[in-house]
Amino acid sequence: MKKILLGAFLTCSMLIATAQEKNAVIENIIKEANENSQLEVLGHQLMDVIGPRLVGTPQMRQAHDWAVDTYAKWGIPAENQQYGEWKAWERGITHIDMISPRVQSLAGTQLSWSPSTGPKGVTAEVINLPTVKDSLDFRNWLKNVKGKFVMVSEYQITGRPDYNWEEFATPESFEKMKKERDSLTKEFYANMRRTGYTARNIHEALESAGAAGIVSSYWSKGFGANKIFASRTKKIPTVDIQLEDYGMLYRLVESGQKPKLKIVAESKDLGVAPTFNTVAQIKGSEKPDEYVILSAHFDSWDGGTGATDNGTGTLVMMEAMRLLKKFYPNPKRTILVGHWGSEEQGLNGSRAFVEDHPEMMKNIQAVFNQDNGTGRVVNLSGAGYLHAYDYLTRWLAAAPKDITKHIKTDFPGSPSGGGSDNASFIAVGAPSFNLSALNWSYWNYTWHTNLDTYDKIVFDDVRSNAILTAILAYMASEDDVKTSNEKIILPVSERTGKQLEWPTHRSPERKGGLD
Ligand SMILES: [Zn+2]
Repeated sequence: MKKILLGAFLTCSMLIATAQEKNAVIENIIKEANENSQLEVLGHQLMDVIGPRLVGTPQMRQAHDWAVDTYAKWGIPAENQQYGEWKAWERGITHIDMISPRVQSLAGTQLSWSPSTGPKGVTAEVINLPTVKDSLDFRNWLKNVKGKFVMVSEYQITGRPDYNWEEFATPESFEKMKKERDSLTKEFYANMRRTGYTARNIHEALESAGAAGIVSSYWSKGFGANKIFASRTKKIPTVDIQLEDYGMLYRLVESGQKPKLKIVAESKDLGVAPTFNTVAQIKGSEKPDEYVILSAHFDSWDGGTGATDNGTGTLVMMEAMRLLKKFYPNPKRTILVGHWGSEEQGLNGSRAFVEDHPEMMKNIQAVFNQDNGTGRVVNLSGAGYLHAYDYLTRWLAAAPKDITKHIKTDFPGSPSGGGSDNASFIAVGAPSFNLSALNWSYWNYTWHTNLDTYDKIVFDDVRSNAILTAILAYMASEDDVKTSNEKIILPVSERTGKQLEWPTHRSPERKGGLD
């Protein structure tokens, strides 16, 4: 009886001792993150000073160099690892003015990789796509586009997002609007099919027919929010005009006012640029060949400044690395951070890293990726790894309750086949997990939009994520055992009736945007 009690006492006190020892690192991480946060300064430097980080632009290169310098200041060795090349392009001034029937400067910007108008710009009448009977009808109409700007996007009957209608409209009126909108959308695509083109390749047809430029509007279903993606033209400029102004122009064309635009859209074609991943690491002291990887893509689209996609994921990983270096400078395993290039064009940077480091992929303790906005982490999935429950819950338990109480876990979960860089690691069987964030209206308002800017960052949530990431990395590094990467047997797909297959590795685009 005595012996048993003594035994129990010893085990108990040992546990307490370990817990206290670990707590010192964790407590320091929390205190520093809260009292001496670098997030605001880093966010300002990255989003306001450097700006958006489109692959192949000088700003992307500048961001890579800035990250290496910042890590060097913290005493963390870092380097830019080249993995390929991309078309080199630099955005210049966009200025869009309606000059007839009256003067108004319009809210809009050129699409990424748009050809330049030169500093003087182009002044021309703007016209809408016609309603046509068939492709012959459309071909006949095409001769009208010479020297004109052509509006190619669907007209939106309301610039109010649905949540706003839901709050204020009568139910009947809301229903009526949705019905009308649906039928207009149907007709837009039916008419597009009748032209013989798609919403994608009609740009080329207009360009070949001599249009002065393309005017599009990709509404993101929020007030003032438009998505800004790649231009499809080779010689003439393509600009996106926000719903509010695009709708006005559209109505002016329809009522026979023959509106005229002056568009200045300057850009520089700079040839070819190397593409990089920025990689930094704190070398492991006991198991240097086993890796805990912090992961966030570094590139962005360039309609805004890439603040929540993926400036915030970047800040989380940088701040976590700073905290770890400061309070856990000799980790058991190597802690490596990857700031991947060109995620937006197909996970290119992380896929290249995975492909170029096959030995490392066999020794991954865990990968933590963040890439869906500024919110605090609310979901953590086992990603289809059978034993993820065991280690992830153990690591999570070390984080403060006020952080973990928001997190819903899902075990064993299922493997992600794309969407963000964690998928690149999952494809080669490395335990890789997404720190999935509360959305803060991400999909409508900031994801790939003109509104993805510094003011949308919720620093308290980002701080919470940096603390969480640092603690998870610390726990993963310290764990006595190497994590299991045994996969679950995937279920049968309800759609196809066949058993689902684990995603497989896809090679990255190593020479992109060049024709
Ligand atoms: Zn992203």
